[in-house]
Amino acid sequence: MTTSSEIKKKVIVFAEKRDDLIHPISFELLGKGREIADKLNAELSCVLLGYRVSREQAMELIYYGADQVFLYDNIVFKELNIIPYKHNIVQLVKREKPDIFLFGATHFGRSLAPRVAAALETGLTADCIDLQVDENGDLIQIRPAFTGNILAHIKTKTKPVMSTVRYKVMQMREKDQARKGQIINEATEVPNERGPRIIRKERQAEFNITEAKIIVSGGRGLGTSEGFKLLKELADLLGGVVGASRTPVDEGWIGKEHQVGFSGNTVKPKLYIACGISGSPQHLAGMKESETIIAINTDPSAPIHRTADYSIISDLYQVIPEMIKQIKARKVNRT
Ligand SMILES: Cc1cc2nc3c(=O)[nH]c(=O)nc-3n(C[C@H](O)[C@H](O)[C@H](O)COP(=O)(O)OP(=O)(O)OC[C@H]3O[C@@H](n4cnc5c(N)ncnc54)[C@H](O)[C@@H]3O)c2cc1C
Repeated sequence: MTTSSEIKKKVIVFAEKRDDLIHPISFELLGKGREIADKLNAELSCVLLGYRVSREQAMELIYYGADQVFLYDNIVFKELNIIPYKHNIVQLVKREKPDIFLFGATHFGRSLAPRVAAALETGLTADCIDLQVDENGDLIQIRPAFTGNILAHIKTKTKPVMSTVRYKVMQMREKDQARKGQIINEATEVPNERGPRIIRKERQAEFNITEAKIIVSGGRGLGTSEGFKLLKELADLLGGVVGASRTPVDEGWIGKEHQVGFSGNTVKPKLYIACGISGSPQHLAGMKESETIIAINTDPSAPIHRTADYSIISDLYQVIPEMIKQIKARKVNRT
C-alpha cells in the first residue's frame, strides 16, 4: 500500500518544438526543473508534442535533466495550433496531477500556458525570472512588478503551480549522455474544436535579437529615427544587430521586435553597446546580464554608467562615426 508520504512530487516542463528543432528555452527550463525536483525529491518529466519527432530529440531532454518524456507524435502538431496542444496537455495534467508545471515565455508558451491554466482553473505566474523552493517546499515564483522597480515573490495556492519563465534567464545544465530515462509514447487526442487554420505562411525577414552575440542599442538620445541607420552600420560591421530602449519604439523610430527590457526582450550578448540610453530599471532588466556593456551617454550621472563596464561620456554622433571609421580602417589593413 502506498502512503501519502511515499507519493513522489511531480514537476513537468513543456518542451517546445518548432519546425524540426526543440527551442533552447526547453533545456533552460529543464536545468531549473532539475534543481527544483532535486530539492523536492520529485520526479522531473517533460512533455514533447510534435510531428515526426525523433527518438534522439526525446533523448536530448533526458540528457538535459528529465527523468521521463511524455511523447506525442501526431500530424495535428505539425503547426503550432494552440487547440490540440492545450487539449492534450490538459488531459495529461488531469492524469499525472503534477505539483508544478513550467512553460517557456516564448510567443507560443505565453499563448498556451494561460489557456491550460484556465482550463484547469489554476493560477499562472507569467514572465518569471527566477524560481526557488522555500523551507516549506513551496515554489516561489519571482518576477518584476510595479514596472520592474521591485521583484515580487509569488506563492500560488492552486495546483499545479504554473509559471512561464523568460528566455535566457535560467542556466542550462551540461548535457549528460550517460543519463537514463524513460520515453513514454502517448496517444494523441484530436479535439473537435479546430482553432485557427493556417492558410499560408509568409516568412518575415529573420530577426532574433535574443540570440545575437553583439547588440548596438539606441535610445531617446538618438533624437530621430535616422540615428538607427548609423547604429545599423556599426552593428553590421561588428556582425551584430540593432536594439532599442522603449522610447524609440514608442516614437515609431524602430520596430517593437528590437525593444530590450522589462516589456521587451531579455538579452545576454557578449557585447551590448547602449547609445543615448539613460539606463532605467525597465531597460536594465532586459540587458544587465550582458557580458560586456559599453555606454555612450553625454550625461555622466546617467544610471547606465553604473551598470556599464566601459563608459564613454560623449556625444554618440561623434563617437559612433569614429568607431565605424576605425573598424573600417582595421578591416582594410587586414586584407
Ligand atoms: C510598464 C513599463 C514598462 C517599460 N518597459 C521598458 C522596456 O522594456 N525597455 C525600455 O527601454 N524601457 C521601458 N520602459 C520605459 C522606461 O521607464 C524609460 O522611460 C525608458 O527606458 C527610457 O528610454 P531612454 O533611456 O531611451 O530615454 P531617456 O531616459 O530619455 O534617456 C536618454 C539618454 O540619452 C542621453 N543622450 C541625449 N543625447 C545624447 C547624445 N547625443 N549622445 C549620447 N547620449 C545622449 C541622455 O543623457 C539620456 O541619458 C517601461 C516603462 C514602463 C512604465
